[in-house]
Amino acid sequence: MSTIAAISTPNAVGGLAVIRISGENAVAVAEKIFRPHGGKKVAEMRGYTCAYGIAHDDGERIDDCILTVFRAPHSYTGEDVCEVSCHGGLYVSKRILRAALKNGAVSAEAGEFTKRAFLNGKLDLTQAEAVMDVISARGEAELRMAEQLREGATFKKARACSDRLLRILSGIAAWTDYPDEDIPEIEPTAIHAELTEIRAELESLVHNYDSGRILREGVATAIIGRPNVGKSTLFNCLSGCERSIVTDIAGTTRDVVEETVRLGDIVLRLSDTAGIHDTEDLIEGIGIDIAEKTAENAELVIAVFDGNCPLSADDLYLINKINNKKAIAVINKSDREQVIETDVLKDRFVHIVYISAKNGEGIDELENAVKALFEINSDSFSVATASNERQKQCIDNAIRSLDEGISIIESSEMYDALNVVLDDAEQSLLELTGERITEAVVDEVFSHFCVGK
Ligand code: GDP
Repeated sequence: MSTIAAISTPNAVGGLAVIRISGENAVAVAEKIFRPHGGKKVAEMRGYTCAYGIAHDDGERIDDCILTVFRAPHSYTGEDVCEVSCHGGLYVSKRILRAALKNGAVSAEAGEFTKRAFLNGKLDLTQAEAVMDVISARGEAELRMAEQLREGATFKKARACSDRLLRILSGIAAWTDYPDEDIPEIEPTAIHAELTEIRAELESLVHNYDSGRILREGVATAIIGRPNVGKSTLFNCLSGCERSIVTDIAGTTRDVVEETVRLGDIVLRLSDTAGIHDTEDLIEGIGIDIAEKTAENAELVIAVFDGNCPLSADDLYLINKINNKKAIAVINKSDREQVIETDVLKDRFVHIVYISAKNGEGIDELENAVKALFEINSDSFSVATASNERQKQCIDNAIRSLDEGISIIESSEMYDALNVVLDDAEQSLLELTGERITEAVVDEVFSHFCVGK
């Protein structure tokens, strides 16, 4: 395999930059571009040691640097790895990288260091994917979920299920292939019980998928309501900045304003929309159409009502519009006298929250309502869970095959057919962990990584 190099730190100016080199010639490449002070040779450096020296290009000094050497297999990739830490200037780091490329390394592709770690058995595929989740975590909950995955919680569970399936498969194979041997007869009820248990284990891996996905990717949320109920004020209160125009004049938000905000553990991808109401104004009408479409496409609708006024025809129209959506009713302006009657709202909304968007009151209750609606609790990020569509699909496929297996046992005892579907389940689990997987899938997984990781 070639020796690869890339800048592993962001493409920006900073205190430090790191150029990573990995492969069987990593040490030889480093030897040609780095001269340790004191005359020691890079080739003599042992794993997990550093040297202070200069990086150079054909003897021309580039920068004072630290070189760290990792010896195979005790490195991130499992290969020899040399990391040059230099001053974090864009030009400096690029020159050192160029010197490495001139001296035998080739440019690393996106995620290639982690891909090599996977190919060298340092990580299973779910753990490799977790590396990307760790990098892209925007908050504590996401980080905790990614750490679970990185520590191999999903892998271990999938592996245990896969081992149990293998035992059943080999039992069936022995019994059907060697009918004359003294092999214990297959016990259908025992296999049935075992498959049901394995199925439950796998089910637990996808049970929290949706809440996990919500925590990772955020919820597409539309704030809707008739004009002047305080949608823009709520939007600004959540986003912490004045992005939406707040005025007493009805109909001032004519298009959709978007922002990603954090509400406790949850990220909301917020859209503040034009006030939905009956209007003759053409431009405002277009804004309202867009608002209705935004609400239609949202995963969560925050329907805002003005607690200071009785419900109006526009409010009722809006309640009808969002009939099938996950929605929370927010009764705004709780700092003033409340005259709104809530019976109609109680019929439609399980969660009704009183807030004052102006004073920021009631936002904790809003967060709790979102969590309850999406069934987010401490389990959502502390138990082993599939963390992306690929993993979920593998587990779903395995569950489907197990279901077929269970019904084969219930309806007949055709062990050939059972063998085939259990083998399918096994394949799906091996695909999940990356133990049996096509090159195309591996390439697809790592194409989402950044260069240098
Ligand atoms: P939108 O048309 O629904 O976006 O409403 P705005 O956010 O523009 O607010 C309409 C008016 O209601 C403005 O004068 C806001 O200052 C006022 N308002 C918004 N939220 C509150 C609140 O919690 N309490 C009070 N008293 N006034 C509010």
